[in-house]
Amino acid sequence: MTSHRHTKKILLVNPWIHDFAAYDYWAKPLGLLYIGSFLRNEGFRVELVDCLNDPEALCFGTRKNGRGRFQKEEISKPAALNHIPRRYSRYGMSPGKFREALQRRCRPDAVLVTSVMTYWYPGVFEAIGIIKELFPEVPLALGGIYATLCPEHARAHSGADLVVEGDVLFREPEDKKSLRAVLETLFGVDLDFFKPYNTLDSLPFPAYDLLPSFDQAVLLTSRGCPYSCDYCASRYLDGFFQERDPLSVADEIEYWIDSYGVRDFSFYDDALIVNAEKRLVPLLEEIMRRGFSCRFHCPNGMHLRGMNDTLARLMYRAGFKTLRFGFETSQADRQKATGDKISNPETAEAVRHLKRAGFRGEDIGLYLLCGLPGQNRKEMEDTVDYVASLGVRPVIAEYSPIPHTALWPSALASSNLDLASEPLYHNNSIFPCLPDSDDVQFLRSLKVRARASHSRKQD
Ligand code: SF4
Repeated sequence: MTSHRHTKKILLVNPWIHDFAAYDYWAKPLGLLYIGSFLRNEGFRVELVDCLNDPEALCFGTRKNGRGRFQKEEISKPAALNHIPRRYSRYGMSPGKFREALQRRCRPDAVLVTSVMTYWYPGVFEAIGIIKELFPEVPLALGGIYATLCPEHARAHSGADLVVEGDVLFREPEDKKSLRAVLETLFGVDLDFFKPYNTLDSLPFPAYDLLPSFDQAVLLTSRGCPYSCDYCASRYLDGFFQERDPLSVADEIEYWIDSYGVRDFSFYDDALIVNAEKRLVPLLEEIMRRGFSCRFHCPNGMHLRGMNDTLARLMYRAGFKTLRFGFETSQADRQKATGDKISNPETAEAVRHLKRAGFRGEDIGLYLLCGLPGQNRKEMEDTVDYVASLGVRPVIAEYSPIPHTALWPSALASSNLDLASEPLYHNNSIFPCLPDSDDVQFLRSLKVRARASHSRKQD
């Protein structure tokens, strides 16, 4: 059946975000871009329509160092969110442009649609609806995070022919959940030529060239996380922790610089600093040895544990600009109970290393998880005050309940919303586990206080 190999055309789609707010913090559909390069290497013809990374979708005037606003259009709220007194928007290109982009391409043989946040599913459904209207006979598979965390919901409501749970790339071709198996289901034929690509290093670089343009590249030096925090789905989504050869990451950076002039890179690792002496330290040394002149950003909270003088200095000299760390809470009991990834003394020590290396307080942001089930106001206030006392930026991240995490049962018990059957209620903008409207008001004022506490430190 290998005759299908060079004739099949696969369309990849990254749908819209529908939400109360969205901002492009160095976001790219990395999984889809890896799938694109993988399929091209297997001989398929691959095209991509990305609702978020299109010139019409990005507000170029607002972009700086690879991040900025998305174009948006206010739309009606889904009925489940009608009680929320905020505007709701579609972020990304217009539906008219999306239709045009699909029609410009010749009819694909299969469509693969990705998904991210569970509560962004209306944007996914809208995209699938239009694709099915234009290409009714073409089989379509939906994968990604929403499809993995809420597969029954996706099967019941998305309109996809196939809902794919979990990763499809890091599997043997014979695995029933591999990309080969997905395509065999869609095409109804055996594909017996897939090579096993089961490590990050054996994959080709992601197919950024499928995007109309890009001003920054997302990098992965590892996948998954060796920790297992109660509120995080990393273990469920990625399974085992795997690391790349740092020289291969350096080669990739060099490739994007030389071929596309990219200067801004963001690391999307869940555990960039874990095992740093084997991976991040050699990578940073190689970056300096090769003389790259780039800006590196870490929007995905890094670990504070493991930060030391050498690593902080290397990061500073290599060009790290945006540092975000996952701290979550200053309450020692909760730190221990939810995953034991950090303590207050380790945090203070890590901040000292970073500042001694040359980073300023405003470069260093610590994410604080607020609105957890059972979390009281004092804990949240104490956490903001503690982080501010270190002279770094407290960045409040409202808790979003995630299915299949250890904290999910507590989230269900503490919320007065039907989290189990309506993923829209996972949206952290509506503070789903703070049933009391006073708490919501409190959290809003805490954000103001967090910003103010940091600016005071800078004065
Ligand atoms: S350390 Fe971070 S990525 Fe790892 S499980 Fe905890 S929250 Fe998730």
